[in-house]
Amino acid sequence: MKPIIIIGAGMAGYTAARELRKLDKEVPITIITADDGGFYSKPMLSNAYAQKKLPAQLVTQSATQLATQIGATILTSTKVDGIDTAAKTLSTSAGVLDYDKLIFAIGAQPIRLPLQGDAAEQVMSVNHVEDYARFRALLDATEAGRQARVMILGAGLIGCEFADDLASGGHAVTLIDPNPLPLAALAAPALSEGLQAALLDRGVRLCLGTTASRIDRGEKGITATLANGETVEADIVLSAVGLRPSTALAQAAGLKINRGIVVDAYGQTSAPDVYALGDCAEYTEADGATRILPYIAPLLNAGRAIAKTLTGTPTAIDLKPAAVIVKTPCYPLALVPPPQKALQDGKWHTTEESGRTVCRFIDAEGVVAGFGLSHHEAASRQVLMAELGKTLATGNAG
Ligand SMILES: Cc1cc2nc3c(=O)[nH]c(=O)nc-3n(C[C@H](O)[C@H](O)[C@H](O)COP(=O)(O)OP(=O)(O)OC[C@H]3O[C@@H](n4cnc5c(N)ncnc54)[C@H](O)[C@@H]3O)c2cc1C
Repeated sequence: MKPIIIIGAGMAGYTAARELRKLDKEVPITIITADDGGFYSKPMLSNAYAQKKLPAQLVTQSATQLATQIGATILTSTKVDGIDTAAKTLSTSAGVLDYDKLIFAIGAQPIRLPLQGDAAEQVMSVNHVEDYARFRALLDATEAGRQARVMILGAGLIGCEFADDLASGGHAVTLIDPNPLPLAALAAPALSEGLQAALLDRGVRLCLGTTASRIDRGEKGITATLANGETVEADIVLSAVGLRPSTALAQAAGLKINRGIVVDAYGQTSAPDVYALGDCAEYTEADGATRILPYIAPLLNAGRAIAKTLTGTPTAIDLKPAAVIVKTPCYPLALVPPPQKALQDGKWHTTEESGRTVCRFIDAEGVVAGFGLSHHEAASRQVLMAELGKTLATGNAG
């Protein structure tokens, strides 16, 4: 019997494998991964420092433990470099393998900014626990006797989380972003302002409305020259400017690609018996619109649905919005960003409710299409989740 092969051992790959095994105790499952296959919760990378967690402590299970627990073959340090969807074979660094069904769970790659300067190559990104281990080694190396100076490029979700985490751990953080406020692409302006004030209180230096244009070796570390002419001295430069779905492998195999690997409502790609989920996938919604959803909740839903479909019960992926939790303890936020298409004609309405700043995005039809709230907990999030898609009485919108 040919196996179901999953390429990738991140949260998407392991979710698909576990869900498949729950439904079918017999089907052979092979997971192929370029890394060592250890399981870690990626969201923990941006708040591990203040929690005093070392990189090795983030890896909760080894590939060997997971292979036994799931009942799967896991090929570690093995790269897939070609797929023949007609012959249903993969060419890998461990040889050619046949598959019955194939699941792409190959994640995304950090976007590299086109920076000038003789230290541009030293700019690092953290999208894997191994990157985080290298980052922590650099922090430790600069810590002897003084705090490290960390410059973060990008004040989006991950940049803000790292800024808060490292600043609360005693490091000198400079956060740089071309937008006038942090989290500008995801949060209502009122919440971005609240986060800005909280990060400043935390001791983070914010350089907003500008970008880094050069990164050079300085006398004492790295000197960044910003587009506004300012210079910033740092020991480490961390880029958090975003991720791009990994699509090269699927593209070479002739699969339909847009920004990510395009999948239908069931998670199937344009090739028969080939599926995709997680950061590499571009999901199709009920109205035909496609969206990249690089978060945990959608990959959990996709893993469950694909497993059901592959075991005989065709199941559409549940893409209903889930709140994105911004792990900035200085100003904790829960967000459901409005869909891009609603942004033009709707607007944010802000109220203060029981010590929280609550922002509802009301679209052109008067419907709540997104929200954000500070200092949230489960009950306050649920109230707002329940309002999504509903028309609010005018007075309620504030
Ligand atoms: C710092 C940080 C904080 C985050 N915080 C949150 C959060 O709070 N909440 C939230 O919802 N989301 C968060 N996210 C996003 C979330 O972690 C990701 O959406 C999710 O982990 C993606 O999982 P994945 O399995 O799709 O990809 P990955 O974890 O990137 O896994 C990809 C796998 O594919 C393998 N691979 C790739 N190419 C090949 C190949 N050719 N051959 C073999 N193997 C290959 C890799 O080795 C790896 O095992 C965060 C992300 C980061 C970086």
